[in-house]
Amino acid sequence: MRIAILGATGSIGVQALEVVRELRGRGVEVQVVALAAGRRVAELCEVAREFEAKAICVLGEAEAERARALLPSHVEVLWGRGGLEELAAHPEAELVLNAVVGAAGLRATLAALSAGKRLALANKESLVIGGHLVMERVHLHDQLIPVDSEHSALWQALRGISPGEVEKLWITASGGAFRDRSPEELERVSPREALSHPTWNMGPRITVDSATLVNKAFEVIEAHWLFAMSYERIGVLLHPQSIVHGAVELVDGNWIAVLSTPDMRIPIKYALTYPQHLPPPPRDFSLIGRDLEFREVPTGRYPAFEAVLEAGIAGGTAPAVANAADEELVAAFLAGKIPFTAIAEGLRSVLERHVPMRSPSLGDILAADSWARAETHRWMTQRFGPTIGHERRVDESDDG
Ligand code: NDP
Ligand code: MG
Repeated sequence: MRIAILGATGSIGVQALEVVRELRGRGVEVQVVALAAGRRVAELCEVAREFEAKAICVLGEAEAERARALLPSHVEVLWGRGGLEELAAHPEAELVLNAVVGAAGLRATLAALSAGKRLALANKESLVIGGHLVMERVHLHDQLIPVDSEHSALWQALRGISPGEVEKLWITASGGAFRDRSPEELERVSPREALSHPTWNMGPRITVDSATLVNKAFEVIEAHWLFAMSYERIGVLLHPQSIVHGAVELVDGNWIAVLSTPDMRIPIKYALTYPQHLPPPPRDFSLIGRDLEFREVPTGRYPAFEAVLEAGIAGGTAPAVANAADEELVAAFLAGKIPFTAIAEGLRSVLERHVPMRSPSLGDILAADSWARAETHRWMTQRFGPTIGHERRVDESDDG
């Protein structure tokens, strides 16, 4: 199998490369033909050399210069938005793992699918902001394989089940880093505290999104598109142990749940080796054998979750606005510029000012994204003063 990995220096990308090493060590033939990242050029070039990749892509021209100096001359070096799209459609790649973070992942997803690649999708933002554009390019049932653990679980649980047998899909949420904090304490929590997730080890944005439960609202939207399921039939359960990742409730009262230790290498490996489940299992009964608790998400406890879920249900450009506003608010929180509770407040305020457009084109989605970022900065400046910082765009370095 020949694969391309986008977002190779991130949490998912690094774990995917570990999985590839493991598979190769067991004699499974996996060739990494193309690798992309953003700014961590040295790390990217190191793995490009290790796996003898034929092409790489980095964020901007300056990064590309640095990469050329670190790589043998026969390695093709691409950069920018155009480069990422080209890499996602690399002629030698059969499977593309998109593990870029944020709205920047959408174009790469569309490029990979349009080129007929099988797509292992970690970049949930692709489905959140452009679900209809993504799904209209999926021509085979198994062309798009989810990497997100909850969706990987549902994907497995739904194998052999017909749509008429399904009552409801359930995804689980750990409740995030602050699940036991009072509303007053939330005003003062620090970025460092937000980045210590109780059960998963992930990139910074998704870790903060887990504390606000915005990540879970994104996952409901993701499930809506992946499994063509209406929003009333997708539920979220708080499950602090993160052992059950997803469950399908059948019409006759049976449930099919998928359990595993919280380790992203498990769904990554499944997406890479689908439809096979390959050994060895990281069996750890001390984790699986614990008491498992489940309860519904309490109303009012996670205001950002509710705001993003409403945006998902509103549809059109609203989820793109929610995602862009969240990216900017999370970045400002991590930079120590706004309190944790301002993420929900800002999201609500920006979404209230947005009039969603139905069935948006890619251009409409990107315009809504830019509008939302500008609006979020306007709101932060008005709310917290002019020292909050300047506007940042998704494709900030792009002319490529
Ligand atoms: P990280 O922040 O750890 O990594 C992000 C990766 O994307 C890095 O390789 C980064 O490059 C690259 N990148 C960022 N911006 C751009 C850009 N504009 N162009 C090209 N590459 C870019 O994120 P995660 O690995 O945690 O998450 C990746 C995706 O997977 C997200 O969509 C997340 O929601 C999803 N996901 C993650 C899970 C997890 O456990 N981490 C679980 C389920 C889903 P560099 O660092 O070199 O700048
Ligand atoms: Mg998940």
